[in-house]
Amino acid sequence: MSVAGGHLELRDVSVFYGERAALQSVTLDVSQGSQVAIIGPNGAGKSTLFKALVGLVPVRFGEILVEGHPSVEHRSAVAYVPQREEVDWRFPVTVHDVVAMGRYGRRSWLTKLTPGDREVVDACLRRLGVADLAKRPIGELSGGQQQRVFLARALAQEPHVLLLDEPFTGVDVGTREATFALLAELREHQVTVLVSTHDLEMAVSRFDRVVLLNGRLVSAGPPGQVFTKANLQEAFGGQMVVVDGKSIVVDQCCGGHGPVGAPDSCRCDSCDDPNCTDGEQNP
Ligand code: ADP
Repeated sequence: MSVAGGHLELRDVSVFYGERAALQSVTLDVSQGSQVAIIGPNGAGKSTLFKALVGLVPVRFGEILVEGHPSVEHRSAVAYVPQREEVDWRFPVTVHDVVAMGRYGRRSWLTKLTPGDREVVDACLRRLGVADLAKRPIGELSGGQQQRVFLARALAQEPHVLLLDEPFTGVDVGTREATFALLAELREHQVTVLVSTHDLEMAVSRFDRVVLLNGRLVSAGPPGQVFTKANLQEAFGGQMVVVDGKSIVVDQCCGGHGPVGAPDSCRCDSCDDPNCTDGEQNP
């Protein structure tokens, strides 16, 4: 793996779905090789941030720079592993094909993979422990195996920036540890990594920097500096309860936490909390 340069810069970035802002005026500087946890309640814009970084949703205002260039010109430098629920697992492709897709950011779909590409694909399959599954359809694998295949695909892209959306949700301990081992390796190679997670404890113990979002940027920096009671309250609002002076985040209910520009309405698409009525106001 080559040593990468993965400096990211968001300048006053706003993303809308229709007329509704999902991210508003986010300014953020992520230095090369840092590993950053993206934290925020459901609907805070974490996935939207990642999608904007890889061009899956348009930036309405502001700009995103990757290594000093507009992100549209630098797409292949950024690899994205979506949340499992965003993937159509019925798509009839083998594990090998999925990982090989990582190479196509660098070439046209009409050209064949070179022997060098194939070596990279095989190495990534081995690196994530899924080489013996190469011929299996992706849809037949367990959640943890699917996650490893997507990590292998991202690695095959030889990215300078890696975005992992909720990689620890619904996976087995082995995959979780394999993911952390990969992150340690990427750190050595100075690959910039952004990981969205609900796990504040993990963010504190495993990441250099954290970004707290709630449609806007609440705070960014070292965890000790960002996870103040005031910042957590601002990000999580009604989703935060305080027990024995310690802040506990309950990220299931929209809890009266409003979206950008509409402070009294719900930002969640699907509220899991049976006692929450906010979701009914904005289904
Ligand atoms: P998070 O990843 O933090 O849970 P998202 O980025 O998924 O947040 O969502 C941010 C906001 O954008 C939410 O209010 C969500 O309902 C809305 N949103 C996300 N995707 C879409 C979409 N495809 N169409 C319309 N609204 C969307």
